[in-house]
Amino acid sequence: MGPDYDLTGLITCSTGGLKYIGTFAQGRSRTYRYYTCSSHIRHGSHGCDVPRLPAEAIYQAVLAALLDLYSDTNLSAGAIRAERPNRAGQLSHTEQNSPPSQKAIGQLRRDLAHVFRPGAPASARR
Ligand SMILES: [Zn+2]
Repeated sequence: MGPDYDLTGLITCSTGGLKYIGTFAQGRSRTYRYYTCSSHIRHGSHGCDVPRLPAEAIYQAVLAALLDLYSDTNLSAGAIRAERPNRAGQLSHTEQNSPPSQKAIGQLRRDLAHVFRPGAPASARR
C-alpha cells in the first residue's frame, strides 16, 4: 500500500495562501508522511519556510474534529446512522475522551472525502 494523503489540497498555508500537498521522507524502517506547503516544495525555504506538518498527526486531529462535528450535528449523525446502523453508537462512544480508534478512522475515511471536498476539480470522478 502506498501512502495516501486524504487532506492534500485541503490545508491552506497561512503565509502564502497556497495549498499543502502530500510529501514523504524515507526513514530507516518506515516512510514518514507529511503535508508540505507547495510553495516550499517548488522554491525551498525561499518560497516558504513554514514547517511541514506530520501527516498522521494532522489526520488524527482532523478525525477528532470530525467526530466532534458529527456528535454536534444531527444532520451528519443521521447520515452516518443511515449508512451504518451498527456503528453509529461506536462513534459517539469513541469521541468522548480517547483519540479515535483504528476502527473509527476506517469508518471516517470515506466521510472525510465527502466533507472536505466541496471544491473538487470538475475532472474528478463521481
Ligand atoms: Zn507556505
